[in-house]
Amino acid sequence: MTLTHTGAARSARPFTATALGAPRIGPNRELKKAVEAYWAGTLDRRSLRDVAAGLRRDDRARMTMAGFDSVPTNTFSYYDQVLDTAVLLGALPARVEGVEDPLDRYFAAARGTAEIRPLEMTKWFDTNYHYLVPEIADETRFTLHPEAVLADLAEAVEEGVPARPVVVGPATFLALSKAAPGAGEPWERLDDLVPLYQQLLSLLRAGGAGWVQLDEPALVTDLDAAQLEKVTEVYGALTASADRPAVCVATYFGDPGPALEALGATEIDAVAVDLVAGGPGALAATTAFHDRLVLAGVVDGRNIWRTDLDGALGTLATALGSSGSLAVSTSCSTLHVPYSLEPESDLDPGLRAWLAFAEEKYDEVRVLADALRDGRDSRADAFDRCREALAARASDPRVRDMSLRGRVDALRSAGATRAPAAERAAAQRARLGLPTLPTTTIGSFPQTDDIRRARAAHRNGRLDDAAYTDAMRDEIRRVIELQERLGLDVLVHGEPERNDMVQYFAELLDGFATTAGGWVQSYGSRCVRPPILFGDVRRPNPMTVDWSRYAQSLTSKPVKGMLTGPVTILAWSFVRDDLPIADVADQVALAIRQETVDLQGAGLAIVQVDEPALRELLPLRRADQPDYLDWSVRSFRLATSGVSDATQIHTHLCYSEFGEVIDSIARLDADVTSIEAARSHMEILGDLDAAGFTNQVGPGVYDIHSPRVPAEGEIAELLREAVAAMPAERLWVNPDCGLKTRRDDEVEAALGALVAATGAVRGEVSGT
Ligand code: GLN
Ligand code: ZN
Repeated sequence: MTLTHTGAARSARPFTATALGAPRIGPNRELKKAVEAYWAGTLDRRSLRDVAAGLRRDDRARMTMAGFDSVPTNTFSYYDQVLDTAVLLGALPARVEGVEDPLDRYFAAARGTAEIRPLEMTKWFDTNYHYLVPEIADETRFTLHPEAVLADLAEAVEEGVPARPVVVGPATFLALSKAAPGAGEPWERLDDLVPLYQQLLSLLRAGGAGWVQLDEPALVTDLDAAQLEKVTEVYGALTASADRPAVCVATYFGDPGPALEALGATEIDAVAVDLVAGGPGALAATTAFHDRLVLAGVVDGRNIWRTDLDGALGTLATALGSSGSLAVSTSCSTLHVPYSLEPESDLDPGLRAWLAFAEEKYDEVRVLADALRDGRDSRADAFDRCREALAARASDPRVRDMSLRGRVDALRSAGATRAPAAERAAAQRARLGLPTLPTTTIGSFPQTDDIRRARAAHRNGRLDDAAYTDAMRDEIRRVIELQERLGLDVLVHGEPERNDMVQYFAELLDGFATTAGGWVQSYGSRCVRPPILFGDVRRPNPMTVDWSRYAQSLTSKPVKGMLTGPVTILAWSFVRDDLPIADVADQVALAIRQETVDLQGAGLAIVQVDEPALRELLPLRRADQPDYLDWSVRSFRLATSGVSDATQIHTHLCYSEFGEVIDSIARLDADVTSIEAARSHMEILGDLDAAGFTNQVGPGVYDIHSPRVPAEGEIAELLREAVAAMPAERLWVNPDCGLKTRRDDEVEAALGALVAATGAVRGEVSGT
């Protein structure tokens, strides 16, 4: 099939099978281990670079083996692709300029140093991946630093791989950036980026790239007419020069809607469309590309379910009707799924057949591309196996438990009812008797090597239940003693028994499966193993009560019971796609509710139900948001309304721009909400006030995502800002998030500073 429009596309060969990106941490988390060793000073730079080069090579081999005729490259990152783009465009903040070495400067921007504040971190669209937010100052003079992108391309070209370098596009880069204090909107700087991208394209072409992919997921969010016009203008300019490779603009995570028309009006050569998240709207919008290549994203890059090949082939047939030519693709980068099912030998074999991780997805792409070209019969075996697996999944008794569904319906129609917040606050004040500005933490304490070893030994059967319980109890006692010594007011047990705040519950609830090595990158070197929620959810036994009861038995101070909320459990799992997500949320809510009631019965006066992911699942289009916010708030309230008024419910939120969900945070109606704030200077308090929120708030005053230990004076300053924004009676003092990723010595020093700063500010408050 030839492409008929003008420009570079005339010489660019269309392709048939690809993925939009790939995981990069290594099948056995090689990158995590290497980067952390480099940070710790136990691995030199040369060896780190060797590990990285090996991972890139393996990645290209994997895709070539899968039969891709276009291979995404430049998908590797030492930390984050948005930070890489900031480096590429010379947009690092001025405060890291003093760090001479480029790699260390990069890590300084990502993680901070003793002197340097790191960039803010937030969620990448509606995923659980976090990117670093570039800060654009008026003084930022963009300059191109293409060395890394070109070197990556050279590696691929040398191997004869049909490389398609992937770079975050200018619109998305600026849409995700924030203005430095006092600076203008980053989006207004688009014109400044155009010459840099033009130059980059020309360099990539000279370096041997036939195609380049510019990632523009921002195009699936609500853009106004002026912004869409700007997109047309920018891509018009980027494609005007003859000296460029063919350009594919990748939209994903939703329906690009009118943005496809805006792109269609330019000379770009291909567009990638997410036909999983984008649905029929995205499919219809591809008509704007009837004379060009469309990368049809029919294989879900974000979830782990096996593709319905017949359904996908039907979608492809429809798409073919409205595009010049078609390539089969994943819907987005497979960054969000594990590498391969192959090592998962312990998975229930029935369940295993329902799944596809990145490698299996590449095979699905190839099967579909073959079937599209040569007919379904050419891959009949693959289609048969798929049908069999889907039929088995649909009839498996674990996916439908009618008695459980009846109980969830009953709870839902009864609804959530607690007394008004002020009445509850009075009952709790009387019961708890806490000082002004009570100090507490978010739940976890450092996960020491001892703890990890004990958990691993228990898992492998080398440590029996009794010995394991003793080991965890020792740790709980150590953490309670530490908190007593530091003088905190509300204590936690430290969560030593939890590998992860979602996986822990998934292992104890029916309806979930967990993987042995299904790691995905969460941020930087941090990886998570999302559980697979495949069936109806039920709580067979209490999950946390023994640990919390033990912790409370050690102290006369109140201990918080610690649970994860329904939205977060869903957000950090791979969720079934055969039941509306709101129904799944209510099943989880019932299980958490049973646990809160049992904790109360065990004598705990405070229960925290964490919902750090509340913002993350927010749909990208405003039109879809109210429905989500309704079911997410409802599930939280169902989960937390089984306890008495004198039992205090806390919740915790983090990592996010809370703007859009601020009303919903208020509607959660938790008695106390702890929330990330240290990096963003207490902005959140004013916002909560403006939303009419009158419950208590604990703005984070210690940024735990950085190894930096804050000074007492610095924390006191943040507290003074907080007290200026909200009455002290409503304020709590706590870190931004859990402490599990930090070291013991850092935590002890930082919490010491936190308690001391609180003492100082308490004095000032009562003095006024
Ligand atoms: N309670 C959890 C912890 O402290 C909360 C973690 C989170 O918000 N991500 O680890
Ligand atoms: Zn948190």
